[in-house]
Amino acid sequence: MNRPLLTVACLLGIAPVFAQDGGDPARDPAKTEVWTPVPAVVATPPGRAPSDAIVLFDGKDLSRWESEQGGPVPWTVADGALTVVPGSKGIRTRQHFCDVQLHVEWRTPTATTGFDGQHRGNSGIFLQEVYELQVLDSYNNPTYANGQAGSMYKQAIPLVNASRAPGEWQAYDIIWKAPRFSAGGGLTSPARITVLHNGVLVQDDTVLAGKTEYIGAPSYAPHACAPLYLQEHDARVSYRNIWVREL
Ligand code: MG
Repeated sequence: MNRPLLTVACLLGIAPVFAQDGGDPARDPAKTEVWTPVPAVVATPPGRAPSDAIVLFDGKDLSRWESEQGGPVPWTVADGALTVVPGSKGIRTRQHFCDVQLHVEWRTPTATTGFDGQHRGNSGIFLQEVYELQVLDSYNNPTYANGQAGSMYKQAIPLVNASRAPGEWQAYDIIWKAPRFSAGGGLTSPARITVLHNGVLVQDDTVLAGKTEYIGAPSYAPHACAPLYLQEHDARVSYRNIWVREL
């Protein structure tokens, strides 16, 4: 394209796409533009759940939860937080989930004197009821590394310790890929998890060897989609702003 024509094209708003390419159609940038499918619009208001998420706990409503024994949640709700009652039981969602994106905020107690290691601020987020992402006060609180905050309990040490001080709210953002089983019950694909702790990567597409075990080696047993479960482990750990997106 000569200069006067190029100037006219620019003035008319016509992009001279082939000007540098000798008119070669194979160099047309539009050939690598993909316009469909158009991603769905998701609203992301600051500090709140995305518009396509299932809000599991909004600070007040416990209707999506039940005791692990069935029946009402035995924990307390106050000031927008759900707090473990020591000596009660864990709680689980009524809904069952497989692959999810999960956001959970949690806070461990400020009373730490006399509580060390696994006894300080212990709770846990269990994916599909049997795979524990550890919740623990790991701020200046040594314990076995595969049992600290951000670990997949006794299977995977977190990449770093991103813990905040007790009494401060912390966040987990989790991508969970459920294990797959054949019709005969064999494992066809193990569970995988990615976790951000306070925005920092601590589990990077970690492959699990099976369900969480306190004693002995993990192994798989076939199962379907299952509830999300929050552990009661004698500590007054609090939760808030829990939401999930099914993937
Ligand atoms: Mg725990």
